[in-house]
Amino acid sequence: MSKILIVEDEESIAELEKDYLELSGFEVEIENSGDKGLERALSENFDLYILDLMLPGVDGFEICKRIRQEKNNPVLMVSAKKDDIDKIHGLGLGADDYITKPFSPSELVARVKAHLSRYDRLIGSSAQQNEIIEIRGLKIDKTARRVFVNGEEKNFTTKEFDLLAFLAQNPNRVFTKDELFSNIWDMESVGDIATVTVHIKKIREKIEFDTSKPQYIETIWGVGYRFKM
Ligand code: CA
Repeated sequence: MSKILIVEDEESIAELEKDYLELSGFEVEIENSGDKGLERALSENFDLYILDLMLPGVDGFEICKRIRQEKNNPVLMVSAKKDDIDKIHGLGLGADDYITKPFSPSELVARVKAHLSRYDRLIGSSAQQNEIIEIRGLKIDKTARRVFVNGEEKNFTTKEFDLLAFLAQNPNRVFTKDELFSNIWDMESVGDIATVTVHIKKIREKIEFDTSKPQYIETIWGVGYRFKM
C-alpha cells in the first residue's frame, strides 16, 4: 500500500484529502505544521508528498527543496493562489505537479495515482537497466560482472569492467578522460588520464569486431569517449 504524507495547515482540507485518498486505498498521514512536516518527510519513507505552500514555520517551497535533495518520490504542491504556481515553476524546485485550491478531491486522487504509477515505472525500468545492459550482441551483466560478445564470454579486469559498465550506463554522452578517470579510479590510484586510453584500447580489443572502426565506444577527438547506443 502506498503511503502519502500531507503537510497542510488547514485541517478541514487535510481531512478531506485524507478521506478521499484512503477511500482509494492509500495510507495517509497528516502534519499541520511545516517544521513537523519537514522532519517527517525526511526521516520517514513516504511514496508521495502533498505539500501546501503557505504553512506556519517552514513553508512548502523549502520542504519541497529539502525533499528533492534526498528523495525522488513525487511531490505535489497545493496552493490557494495561481501566482504561486508560477513562482514554483520559476524556482525550479523539482515538484512534479501543482494544484490550485479549490480543487476537486477526485482530481487530486487521479493525479496522485498517475504520479505513483509513473514513478513505479521509472524505478522498475531503471532497476532492470541496471542489471543487464544488452546492445548489438554485447551483453554486460552488472550483477555477475560478466561480459559476453555474441554469446561468448570475455574476461575483464575490475577496472576494464567498471569503465565499460559506466560508459554503457550513460549511453550517447561524451565523457572526457578526466571525467572517466575520476569516476572509475579512486583518489589513491596512481595513474593519469593515459590510464583511461590504455583501458579503452583493451576493452575495444575484447568487444569490437574491428578496433579501427569501433561500434560501441567511439572516440570523440579532442574531447573523450562516448558509448554509442
Ligand atoms: Ca496554508
